[in-house]
Amino acid sequence: MSTAVGPERATARRSGDGILIMSLATACGCDCVFCGLPDSRPHTVLDRSALVTALEHPPDGDRWEEVNITGGDPLVIPAARRLFPDLLARRDRYERLSVSSAGVPAGPALTGLQALDDGHPLDLYVSLDGVGEVHDRVRRRPGAFAEATRFVAEARRRENVHIALTCVINRLNVDRLDELADYAEAQRLPVSYAVVNRSDHYINSLPLYQDVSLDAEQSARAVDFLTRRSRQRLDTDLRRVLRGEPRELPCRLLHKGVLLTSDGATAICGTSQRMVLAEKLPSDGAELAPAWTAALDRRPQLLAAGAGQTCQTCTTNCFAWRTSDGPVPS
Ligand code: SF4
Ligand code: SF4
Repeated sequence: MSTAVGPERATARRSGDGILIMSLATACGCDCVFCGLPDSRPHTVLDRSALVTALEHPPDGDRWEEVNITGGDPLVIPAARRLFPDLLARRDRYERLSVSSAGVPAGPALTGLQALDDGHPLDLYVSLDGVGEVHDRVRRRPGAFAEATRFVAEARRRENVHIALTCVINRLNVDRLDELADYAEAQRLPVSYAVVNRSDHYINSLPLYQDVSLDAEQSARAVDFLTRRSRQRLDTDLRRVLRGEPRELPCRLLHKGVLLTSDGATAICGTSQRMVLAEKLPSDGAELAPAWTAALDRRPQLLAAGAGQTCQTCTTNCFAWRTSDGPVPS
């Protein structure tokens, strides 16, 4: 269900709707044990024209509720940063901007933050999977924890930047999660938890998954940890999935989210091939907007074909449905 955009677009702005997640580049400064992006070749960078088209063509209305930029690491990779001016020039196309980063190495990540910070509110999600050597082992980068914490310390000096930590529970950190929760508490930073997930699309974690997934005992320990230390909306469902039951809380991505990856693919989210709306947007300017609209219009078809079943076992730290999103779509 797309809305025509162009000269006839109403001049009065209404509230935005939907979440646009854009992966600006596959490269980053880490080599995480559960992520296939560092091994992807060739590394890709999102076309400027695709970014502009996505920003200017939300599925409903004339602006997005939220735009999130991710990677790879959009703050660290110079080619990703070169897209920031086009993103910031279209502030009227979204209500909120968020960025996901590992903050490693700290120097380039802070350079990226400086380039992205135009004084408006900015949500900064920093991935932190442990304290000290636990984090270094998950990132497969010695000194990663020291870099990430230096980045956080500098970033929090910016009053308009709101920092939240995100942690992926996996085999390497499942027994050390309390240390992370203690760190977050001491820093007075919110932290949200996901459990390492299978993905056969974009980040392609399948070749790595068997070495980092939780066994039954570790899943039980993760359930215990979440029960004791976490208060996020998804906890009940995460515990359900870890016990082998389907999750119940719908995900906003499924109904209101679009992922545009740096290779030009459009998807509902990055978890499954079943959720790919279009493999590659054309680079030709005249064809781009119609192709984007056609990709978005495929959502009902994918849902009718059962793409939503992927969500039942999803442990990604996704966007849980909120009361303010209105009635849950059937
Ligand atoms: S999970 Fe993020 S920080 Fe880690 S390798 Fe992948 S893109 Fe980089
Ligand atoms: S629940 Fe998981 S699989 Fe479903 S849309 Fe959200 S992130 Fe994607």
